[in-house]
Amino acid sequence: MTDLVTDRGGDKVNYRAPRAQLSLSDFHLEKRLGEGSFAQVVQVQQKETGRRYALKVVDKHLVLKHKQTDYISNERKLLDQFDYEGIVRLHFTFQDATSLYFGLELCPNGELYDQIQRKKRLSLEDARFYAAEIVLTLEYLRQQQVIHRDLKPENLLINAKGHLQLVDFGSAKDLASKQPASGSNNGLLHKLARTASMVGTAEYLAPEVLRDEPTGYAADLWALGCLLYHMLVGQPPFKGASEYLTFQLISGGEYAIPGDMPEAAQDLIRQLLLSDPSKRLGTEDKGLKELKEHRFFDGIDWEHIRTQEAPAVA
Ligand code: ATP
Repeated sequence: MTDLVTDRGGDKVNYRAPRAQLSLSDFHLEKRLGEGSFAQVVQVQQKETGRRYALKVVDKHLVLKHKQTDYISNERKLLDQFDYEGIVRLHFTFQDATSLYFGLELCPNGELYDQIQRKKRLSLEDARFYAAEIVLTLEYLRQQQVIHRDLKPENLLINAKGHLQLVDFGSAKDLASKQPASGSNNGLLHKLARTASMVGTAEYLAPEVLRDEPTGYAADLWALGCLLYHMLVGQPPFKGASEYLTFQLISGGEYAIPGDMPEAAQDLIRQLLLSDPSKRLGTEDKGLKELKEHRFFDGIDWEHIRTQEAPAVA
């Protein structure tokens, strides 16, 4: 466990995020931002620099008890590898006897999930803007040969300027890595099992995950379809009275699109929520270019969107 923060299980890698000689006493703890299965996330201010971060405090005991060291080291390794504005940055790590600490870029505007809840549903323009930012992040991940596998509005945070940043790479699959452990579907279903009591976890799962087939990039495209629907309608496309019923709806591809949804959005959702992963718009063969060229995205300035004015936060 001592090496959990720095050891990738054999890979020789120089981590970018410094393993700083920091400790909890170097920070003012300001407020709690959120909670995961093994971690609390707290807003902190570094005493020396005055800089603010989201400090993810991972409980070592819980991680060991639930045999989730792969999950934590997977996230640490991937966050360290990424260098993209659509993904939350890892600035430093340290640890003590009880916890691992990840110093993350602070996203002070909360989760996309809360925005959908507060606004009931998003306007077409706002949904298009956010969907375009997610497509760019998926494009970056494709270049990195990584599938996120847990794309959902709880894992899309809104930064100080209103732009989206993706978090939670514990379930991600690194196709370039030789390590099998956290890359298997098994890891994903494990995560599902441990988070089964949490709202919203099962609703974005792709049907191939439920069929226990290997997952590819198309699983994130399915989730993108769910997200677009969720933003425009105010609830996810597959939502049963129980997790079991939700899974049945997903497996049967049973969802209804409200008739008043603009046709371009309907078409894009239908082309993403296809049970056969190889047929989804933007899969391996077709590439994300085809997705970006869909008429739903007409008017999006792909090169400058990350510096354009973002939707107002409620
Ligand atoms: P899970 O149990 O879903 O795997 P986790 O333990 O990986 O969760 P995260 O999803 O990374 O934890 O974080 C939990 C919550 O903390 C997020 O949903 C969010 O509300 C908040 N949070 C995480 N990172 C940040 C950040 N950089 N800035 C602001 N809030 C954050």
